[in-house]
Order: sequence, then C-alpha cells, then structure tokens
Amino acid sequence: MICSIDTNSGFCFGVTSAIEKAEQELQHGPLCCLGDIVHNGQECARLEQLGLRTIDYDDLRTLHRARVLLRAHGEPPSTYWIARQRGLEIIDATCPVVKKLQDRIRVCYEQHRADEAQPPQIVIYGQRGHAEVIGLEGQTNNTAIVIESVDEIDRLDFSRPIYLFSQTTKSVEGFKSLVEAIKARRSSLRHNDMTSLQEENGAPFEYHDTICRNVANRVARLQDFARSQDLVIFVGGKKSSNARVLYNKCKEANPNTIFISSPDELADQLPQLDIEKTNPDYRVGICGATSTPTWLMEACKALLT
Ligand code: SF4
Repeated sequence: MICSIDTNSGFCFGVTSAIEKAEQELQHGPLCCLGDIVHNGQECARLEQLGLRTIDYDDLRTLHRARVLLRAHGEPPSTYWIARQRGLEIIDATCPVVKKLQDRIRVCYEQHRADEAQPPQIVIYGQRGHAEVIGLEGQTNNTAIVIESVDEIDRLDFSRPIYLFSQTTKSVEGFKSLVEAIKARRSSLRHNDMTSLQEENGAPFEYHDTICRNVANRVARLQDFARSQDLVIFVGGKKSSNARVLYNKCKEANPNTIFISSPDELADQLPQLDIEKTNPDYRVGICGATSTPTWLMEACKALLT
C-alpha cells in the first residue's frame, strides 16, 4: 500500500495568516478570538492550549479592555461598533480577499440604496448563517438576500434590480448555474409580463464572481489527486463550508472517498474500509480543505502506515 498526502491541501493564505497573527499576539498576553479561528476543531484545540480563548457575541458584549482577534471570515460593522463601545482592542485578521468583497458589497449598497423607483436587491450566493456571510450581510444593513442554491431563486423579484455576489468559498459551477437561472427568469418575465417600455428600461442584473480562486483552483488539482487513488480520506471540519464543497468534488472524481474530522474518526472507520495493506500498488490518498492543518493529515497517515 502507498499512502500519500495531497501537497495542495491545507490552509489557504487567509487562514495561515490569521493563525500566525494569533500565535504572535499570544506572546504578548491573553487573547480572545470571536468564534472558532478556523472551522477545524483540532486546530482550535491546539491554539486554545497556547492560551487562545474562543468567545461568542454574548461574551463580546460583556468583555472590557480585552484584546479580540477577528478571524479570516470577517465581521459585520456591528462587531466593530460593539468593540469600540466596550473599549476592546481589535486584532483584525480578516482575510484581504474577504475584506475586498465586503468593501464591494458596501459600495454597491451605498450606491443603490436610495433608488426608490427601482429598489435594489443585493443577493449573496452563500451559506445562510455562515460567519463570512453574516459579515457580508452586515455591509448592507442586513438587507441582502442570501441564496444557498438555484432552488431558492423564487425568493427574488425579477422585475427589480439584482446585484449578485458570492461567498468566497462557494462553487464556481453553482454560481454559474445561478446566474443562468436568473437570466432565464428575467428573460421569460420580459416576454410574458412586461410592457415594451419596461423592457427598454429593464431593471439591471449585475453579477460578480467573487469566489476565492485559492479555493476554486484547488478543485481541479484535488480531483486529479482523488482519481489517482484507490481510496481517498478527506479530512475536514464538520462546520467548514469549504470542506463540504471540496469533499463533494473529491467524491465526484472518486466515489471511494470518505469524510472524517479526526484521526479518532478514522480509527473507528478503519475496520470497514477494506484497505489492501499488503498490495504494493494499492493507493490511499489523504487530502483536506483550506481549513485542514497539515499536522492533522499527517496524524491520519500515521494511523495507516
Ligand atoms: S479561502 Fe480565500 S477568501 Fe477565504 S480565507 Fe482563504 S484565502 Fe481568504
């Protein structure tokens, strides 16, 4: 059996720099992190051992004079406001890609919010309740419409302007399907219901593919890796949307793919996996999400070899 770890898996630069920032700041004293620093329980536990305290919004409202790290996913403006009220020091580790997306959404909202003739709809293709999406909704004073999949497009009013953005970790194919579905609906509406004047002055549909290529570019390489294996072990956090997307891509390329979150889970599943340990050509590949630490994939490999 040959067991290898995918060299393209592991933390993206946004998560790496947030963790490095936390490690540096912990050297200067106590540090809180608002929410899990990454969607990976094992890595959170490692940083907690170093002194990082994970807090929630209720904690934030009662803290005073503490230092609070904001993770790569970013935060809505209300978090900064609460921090100012409480005299907290913010260590902002928002990923620059997310920051740029927040700025674009805020600018779009500011530009169109006063348009009473054609009230705009800012639409975010993303996972409802995800930290990054909450941060994005906050840029629109929480007026944005979050669409998780093309099945939800009936929530939109196709006669009004639509400004579509994407959460950074959604799939490119899913975004394209959503764009095509919105275009088709708008087109059928024009032909069926609108007057020619409305057609001429039709409500705009702008779409911005704001998916992070750090994630999107991984898909092809990950699928190549998965295809070259007899068994694929995907290691990812249960709360990670990126892990879910990449796992599904792996499974598409190689149906013999399993999802685990920890070496313990792998140990539980080992008896059912039917690994041909004595076959020198049998290949087991270990890979993970952008939030999966390399040390965790190595711990899984150690269980197999
Ligand atoms: S996936 Fe992209 S946008 Fe998200 S934290 Fe990583 S680098 Fe930043």
